[in-house]
Amino acid sequence: MSRFDYVIVGAGSAGCVLADRLSADGTAQVLLVEAGTGTPETRPEVQVPILFPRLFGGELDWNFTTVPQPGLADRSIPIPRGKAVGGSSVINAQLWTRGHRADYDAWAEAGLTGWSHADLQPYFERAEQRVSLAGLRHPLPVTPAFVDACARLGHAPAAEVQEGHLLARATHRDGLRHSSADAYLAPSRERPNLTVLADTFVRRVLFEGTRAVGIEIEGESGTETLRAEREVILSAGAVGSPHLLLLSGVGPAEELTRHGVPVVRDLSTVGRDLTDHLLVPLAFEAQGFRSPGANTTSEQITQYLQDRYGTLDSIISEALLFLRTREELEAPDIEVVHLVVPLGEHQRPTAHGLALGVILLRPRSRGAITLRSADPHDAPLIDPRYLTDEAGHDLETLVAGVREAQRVLRQPDFAQWVGKPLTDGALSEDLDDVTAYIRATGGSIHHLVSTCRMGTDERSVVDPTFAVRGLTGLRVVDASAMPSIVRAHTHAPVTMLAERAADVLLQQR
Ligand SMILES: Cc1cc2nc3c(=O)[nH]c(=O)nc-3n(C[C@H](O)[C@H](O)[C@H](O)COP(=O)(O)OP(=O)(O)OC[C@H]3O[C@@H](n4cnc5c(N)ncnc54)[C@H](O)[C@@H]3O)c2cc1C
Repeated sequence: MSRFDYVIVGAGSAGCVLADRLSADGTAQVLLVEAGTGTPETRPEVQVPILFPRLFGGELDWNFTTVPQPGLADRSIPIPRGKAVGGSSVINAQLWTRGHRADYDAWAEAGLTGWSHADLQPYFERAEQRVSLAGLRHPLPVTPAFVDACARLGHAPAAEVQEGHLLARATHRDGLRHSSADAYLAPSRERPNLTVLADTFVRRVLFEGTRAVGIEIEGESGTETLRAEREVILSAGAVGSPHLLLLSGVGPAEELTRHGVPVVRDLSTVGRDLTDHLLVPLAFEAQGFRSPGANTTSEQITQYLQDRYGTLDSIISEALLFLRTREELEAPDIEVVHLVVPLGEHQRPTAHGLALGVILLRPRSRGAITLRSADPHDAPLIDPRYLTDEAGHDLETLVAGVREAQRVLRQPDFAQWVGKPLTDGALSEDLDDVTAYIRATGGSIHHLVSTCRMGTDERSVVDPTFAVRGLTGLRVVDASAMPSIVRAHTHAPVTMLAERAADVLLQQR
């Protein structure tokens, strides 16, 4: 049996940070295990920023879907998740947003000492020394028109506080995508004390009593076990980490027993508290501009890789607007993302157009990840329960958000670029129509969090040191550990969280 000090499961946004930081001083043997390929960067679709929608449903995507969602006209919603060294940062839309002060201050107020906005800024800064960020090199003319329309409606430019309009910042380096693997693993991969095992599926965590002692993997020669002398760290993402805990006997005893999984620890909230950002796209034909990336040919891709010139560096989401739907709120509850293609992010752009994506930033609806079966290869049941909060707060907020986006679309300077609606009802102001539109078109913007929620309360799965309650030698460090959803696209906050976790682990050695 091979032995390591730290065994990290999942080489995504969080796992890459941990592998780098925990192996940095050379004293610990670190293993990073990843189910997906170790060389995603060899594919043009990964390198060339505009091509990321082509990755959905492919080899680098776990390609999950939700169970039918009653709040969304019983549709099953696609849930792409990166499957490669680099994780979801290899297929994501490359936006980098830190989130709002109120997000983190609320964590500190809930008892997470040291997690306030001010406390966490150094971790973002540390992350930004590694992850390369770039502004838009070639914003389309329709993008300043969107910003002007927001300004005319009274939205200020976002400055210190993430409220108002801003141009996107992307995780790019020299015109190419810069994943967490590029940022954190490329510089450390040759360290003798860091082993990266790609193409290796982890089946479960192994325990001796209540101590995690290793993992079971599917190796080249069948099932093997790998031993962790200090810690097993789950960084398998908001779907993968709770799934692995459940498969390993950590979760609600009733659910585990029903599927024949021996109970190691009855922890009723594993997989619960699932929260995601819902996006409603308002899509239109282009009027007087061409969308980047529509029908890109292989010659254009080869040319771009040679000279890095042209609009293939677009990340589609060129500008963002964070707004409050009610004056009395302390922080924005809606984001409107300005997309220079006609569809929501999870679909492939094939025509010229634009879309405004209306995102519910602080949903109250809570969902769950549960076992479908005890077979690790059976995807878990993913049930975000979008728009199911009892008071109807989520739907009401989204309706207000859609109406504000419609006002932006009607501003003359922006409206001149906006052609025919591609979906019926996108511009209707009637409450029933807007509600039906939201239910018919809403989808995930892929920010699943809190399925192994951190907290100081009894219901939380991990404590403020990322340790799973009631067990030793087992941590969860990724989007699933997030105490609550933030008003941000989640890659930057997850990277920050992993930077902080690395400090905690190094201090506790
Ligand atoms: C399509 C898409 C677009 C997005 N766009 C943006 C954006 O523009 N900006 C932004 O900020 N955020 C975006 N996000 C969200 C952001 O990328 C994620 O929140 C973040 O990457 C999550 O990091 P993580 O470490 O929790 O999980 P991941 O990065 O998903 O990493 C988990 C890793 O664990 C591996 N794994 C899982 N199970 C196993 C197993 N059993 N055995 C071995 N390995 C396993 C996976 O293959 C994966 O590599 C997007 C996400 C997606 C999917």
